[in-house]
Amino acid sequence: MKSFDSFELDPLILKGIRDMGFEEPSPIQAECIPAVLRGEDVIGQAQTGTGKTAAFGIPLLEHVDTSRQKVQAVVLAPTRELAIQVSEELRKIGRPKRVKTLPIYGGQPIGRQIKALKQGVHVVIGTPGRMLDHLRRKTLRLDDVETLVLDEADEMLDMGFIEDIEAVMDYLPESRQLLLFSATIPPAIRRLAQKYMKKPHYITVSRGEVTAPVIEQVYYRVLENNKLESLCRILDSEDVEQGILFCRTKKGVDELAESLSARGYLADGLHGDMAQQQRDRVMNAFRRGDIELLVATDVAARGIDVGTVSHVINYDIPQDAESYVHRIGRTGRAGRTGMALTLVTPREMKQLRSIEYEIAGDLEPRDLPSLEEVAE
Ligand code: ADP
Ligand code: MG
Repeated sequence: MKSFDSFELDPLILKGIRDMGFEEPSPIQAECIPAVLRGEDVIGQAQTGTGKTAAFGIPLLEHVDTSRQKVQAVVLAPTRELAIQVSEELRKIGRPKRVKTLPIYGGQPIGRQIKALKQGVHVVIGTPGRMLDHLRRKTLRLDDVETLVLDEADEMLDMGFIEDIEAVMDYLPESRQLLLFSATIPPAIRRLAQKYMKKPHYITVSRGEVTAPVIEQVYYRVLENNKLESLCRILDSEDVEQGILFCRTKKGVDELAESLSARGYLADGLHGDMAQQQRDRVMNAFRRGDIELLVATDVAARGIDVGTVSHVINYDIPQDAESYVHRIGRTGRAGRTGMALTLVTPREMKQLRSIEYEIAGDLEPRDLPSLEEVAE
């Protein structure tokens, strides 16, 4: 087993890694870090929760020259929440070395970001649209960028960011290093790699090797008109530290968050129609633990990594297996055990079977807890 010491990293970066509490590299990190340090273009494929952020973050921070007040690396991420999260992790690892990171994303006043950029930033982490906005206004220059990272590339493509990504790419010097991370590598990603990478080094961490997912997956049969009651029973019988509950629609999110709050649960909702300030407020409260149950749509919860999420609950069954896998990846992070509970109405049983077929695994059926069990 490799250790972080074997990569010959700057002692300040090693200190940042230690401060994070990382003891040894995860499999994707063990493979990626040396390749990225050598300057190769890398495609890293691994499930969520396997430590992809540090896999690109550590070598990227190692390469930053802090004596130069220039943006030297850029990370593109699909959502604002994810941009903030990646920025935070890089900031922490890079803190002893004094690397400055900045998240830029839509919804936050652009003036504040322009001011922050003027102060000098080494690594910018942003959503493609806002990044492009700054580039067009010339409030961000990427002439000195050595590394571009596409994080959660499959998600970014799903969300229709391909044109923005390619437009951002045009602002980068010809000789940049390109790193692409993704849970899945669909054909569109292969095409992107072919177009922009010289000789990509593929790194795949197969299911068996990943450190994280220890996720117990169960489902409950519920009736449509009794779903909320069923959920409350489950919540009262389970030992939920923090949970993310998924609904199909924004309206569904609002309604469920309100119903749960009305029943005395510490719950709040998160979806794309909310003002950015409001979304930040909810996410911060969730990170602090002031909110126990975060009710969200798929998009709003993409990539969120809160270490204390013990339960993911599919209040509405996910549309497909990919969404299912992404949703349940919000729990069982970094070696912890997580619970993934799915509520299924009789009409949705077929969909459950097709998800099971695609993930090549079975969800375990559970009976709803009886009222006596809830009372205990
Ligand atoms: P991914 O991007 O693959 O979904 P993340 O980079 O978000 O995964 O990492 C998941 C969690 O694991 C984060 O909380 C991160 O801080 C933690 N982590 C990453 N690498 C290590 C490591 N080597 N040892 C322990 N924890 C780690
Ligand atoms: Mg990630």
